[in-house]
Amino acid sequence: MSLLASRMQRLGTETAFEVLARARKLEAEGKEVIHLEIGEPDFSTPKHIVEAAVSALHSGWHHYTPAAGLPSLRRAIAQDCSHRRSIKVDPEEVVVVPGGKPIIFFSILALVEEGDEVIYPNPGFPIYESMVNFVGGRPVPVGLVEEQGFQIDLDELARKISPRTRLLILNSPHNPTGGVLGRAQLEALADMIAGRDIWVLSDEIYSQIIYDEEHFSIAALPGMRQRSIILDGFSKTYAMTGWRLGYGVMPRRLAEAIERLEINSNSCAAAFTQMAAIEALGGDAEPVRKMVAEFRRRRDFIVEGLNRLPGFRCQAPRGAFYAFANIRGTGMGSRRLAELLLEKAGVACLSGTAFGSRGEGYLRFSFANSMENIARALDRIKSVVDDPQFPVGSPPNKD
Ligand code: PLP
Repeated sequence: MSLLASRMQRLGTETAFEVLARARKLEAEGKEVIHLEIGEPDFSTPKHIVEAAVSALHSGWHHYTPAAGLPSLRRAIAQDCSHRRSIKVDPEEVVVVPGGKPIIFFSILALVEEGDEVIYPNPGFPIYESMVNFVGGRPVPVGLVEEQGFQIDLDELARKISPRTRLLILNSPHNPTGGVLGRAQLEALADMIAGRDIWVLSDEIYSQIIYDEEHFSIAALPGMRQRSIILDGFSKTYAMTGWRLGYGVMPRRLAEAIERLEINSNSCAAAFTQMAAIEALGGDAEPVRKMVAEFRRRRDFIVEGLNRLPGFRCQAPRGAFYAFANIRGTGMGSRRLAELLLEKAGVACLSGTAFGSRGEGYLRFSFANSMENIARALDRIKSVVDDPQFPVGSPPNKD
């Protein structure tokens, strides 16, 4: 008897979790590992948000909520989203779900037919490609141009848009490169899909972890609101990854479909976390400002340190908390070098290939770790690359 439905063969995963497991194994064997593979803030959730959750639990928020979220939270999100993106959002256009990921899952399930093409950035968050494959769509990767701050390659995009294109996935600020899509690039993208039956899933989960500019959403451009799904959430901005709370903002008819998917899967996000989220949006914003300021300090430090390593070249990310270093100059492949750094230096990072084939030649270092640990990690990496035996092993991976 076959064990699994055949569609399971098409479902991918996130290698970040595998690297974490390998690092934990080394730790269990007594080796000290510095974790620069992590995709979550190393800060605790701000106290006032935790207190709001505790108080919600004490006052009886123990039950199901409406599937699309508590009306008061949908109102608060609509207001926040309208304000931050200069667009008009109604509460009925907001669907609250457990984390940002379900919005990726549900949007693709709701919109993509078998054989439909979905364009997404490569390197990019691996769940996009995984989900497109899972529903029988055709993943169509588009490259990024490092020399232009990892902007989407517009020439390649123009070639890849076809009558079968159903969805374009954008992510800004971008994981893993830290690239930010500015207004001019978004206008060019919007022009390219104008007049076509193409939806945009705009993953803006890092919208508030941005350093040098204001966040701008493609949904704010003329004609784009009606065909955009904005994904955002509480995981990164408020250091709430373990709480599982995110949301999508989309036209009402799609919101109703996504709500139905929520009814069929999670029923709703946890009630007390939703109460805490209202406090997150309306309460003291100082902890978020402090966290972002600290990320900026670490960004400058790690980028400078990486650029001093022979064979490494790293641009300053404009958003998120990842430094995406070009390591081609080392003569080693990404996966092999990531493994070597874990084994020899006890530094866990991610191979660029964890984000797609076009991540070859890069390593992603998360700076969601203390300055002290980042400094130690840089010293340890230096001792590996300065070793006369380096580079070792196989030539660059071809995958
Ligand atoms: N989108 C991107 C680009 C991410 O990097 C992540 C998390 O790493 C998510 C979505 C998912 O966020 P959440 O933890 O809220 O599901």
